[in-house]
Amino acid sequence: MAELPRHKVLLDESDIPTRWYNIIPDLPTPPPPPLHPGTGQPVGPEDLAPLFPEQLILQEVTADRYVEIPGEVLDVYRLWRPAPLYRAHGLEKALGTPARIYYKYEGVSPAGSHKPNTSVPQAYYNAKAGVRKLTTETGAGQWGTALSFACSIYGLECEVWQVGATYDQKPYRRMMMEIFGASVHRSPSEVTQSGKAILAERADHPGSLGIAISEAVEVAAGDPEARYALGSVLNHVLLHQTVIGEETLLQFAKIGEVPDVLVGCVGGGSNFAGLAFPFLREKLAGRMSPVVRAVEPTSCPSLTKGKYAYDFGDTAGLTPLLKMHTLGHGFVPDPIHAGGLRYHGMAPLLSHVHDLGMIEALAVPQSECFVAAIQFARAEGIVAAPESSHALAACIREALACKETGEERVILAALSGHGHLDMPSYQAYLTGAISDEVITEDRFTASLAELPEIQG
Ligand SMILES: *Cc1c(COP(=O)(O)O)cnc(C)c1O
Repeated sequence: MAELPRHKVLLDESDIPTRWYNIIPDLPTPPPPPLHPGTGQPVGPEDLAPLFPEQLILQEVTADRYVEIPGEVLDVYRLWRPAPLYRAHGLEKALGTPARIYYKYEGVSPAGSHKPNTSVPQAYYNAKAGVRKLTTETGAGQWGTALSFACSIYGLECEVWQVGATYDQKPYRRMMMEIFGASVHRSPSEVTQSGKAILAERADHPGSLGIAISEAVEVAAGDPEARYALGSVLNHVLLHQTVIGEETLLQFAKIGEVPDVLVGCVGGGSNFAGLAFPFLREKLAGRMSPVVRAVEPTSCPSLTKGKYAYDFGDTAGLTPLLKMHTLGHGFVPDPIHAGGLRYHGMAPLLSHVHDLGMIEALAVPQSECFVAAIQFARAEGIVAAPESSHALAACIREALACKETGEERVILAALSGHGHLDMPSYQAYLTGAISDEVITEDRFTASLAELPEIQG
């Protein structure tokens, strides 16, 4: 009898990697530091202390190649890790490609995405530092859900500001946050000065991520027992996500495969960096040579259309200046863009790695992403998060290129989450309400004209 095809590459719970990987010491030059907007000088740990606990600030600037994952964090990771690596036999067959396609699936976590990989250690270090409450912002609710879950595990209060428009239109993630014990405000809210000021101008304001960040930061900065948590962009977030890539390396070693191409979607850059950085370490050491490709939406194309410059991390201009690929902190993607990945900038560390020429970037229109997600769902049985569908679109492009040339390349795709709570986006696609936004160069020029003065 022929050998049955293997669908999943599984590891034992005891095989979860016990260290996170920091790529910085392996880079030819370190990334440019964040700057204080007033002085133009690099920000020091003391500038960050009102918002983050010491351990996370240390991880933000560490020069160590590896950071041990605390046992109490591994205990929680074990609820869903090791995450499965799948061979996409169904998709390969549907495409008729000679490529071997693998995907690393993070949708098995309590929040349905990769985000608990960092919300859990962030809540842990805050709880150990005696913090009582964490505040954060959330758009569609993925990050808010992940942080609520982590806070419930370590006995922290969690207060979330959710962008008004999604609070109204997509109630299910708010319900999940409340199940995990968080209190959720519709942003702009009456409980902060920044929220009140905006509501005074316009009582039915739909909100934005920038406003929600201002509210969460204001409350954390004004309460000595509260701190703030961010779900992407920062070095310590990317560090925590490397558990994805370390695990995938073990899975590839187990089946004796080596990837030729790695694709992942990028919003702030954390799930992509989490998968890619350990593979880039192997590439730098000459042990493999995959092409590493970041995929973004054409409606918010920071890597392919943005400028590599110092800019604010938020819309309101409250954060330190970060050197990153940015479309300008005032850039907001059009409402017809349904696929997430709406951040105006890109993680500074990933921007630096791109600037060094270590990764490629590609922008894909959303209609192609939904076509890819539907094809993937019908072949593999998983309804992907609209964000993750960008990785699937790039994966399918690569697999079809292999069909043209007959090359048996090994493709690894990052499947960052499931889309079970994103049905309104799928509904829009299925009823023909999705179209591709064409952004004129003028719009990029206009928002890039607002970059702050200090340039590094
Ligand atoms: C938040 C999110 C993203 C985008 O964030 P990154 O920091 O770029 O990873 C991608 N996929 C899913 C499922 C998410 O929830």
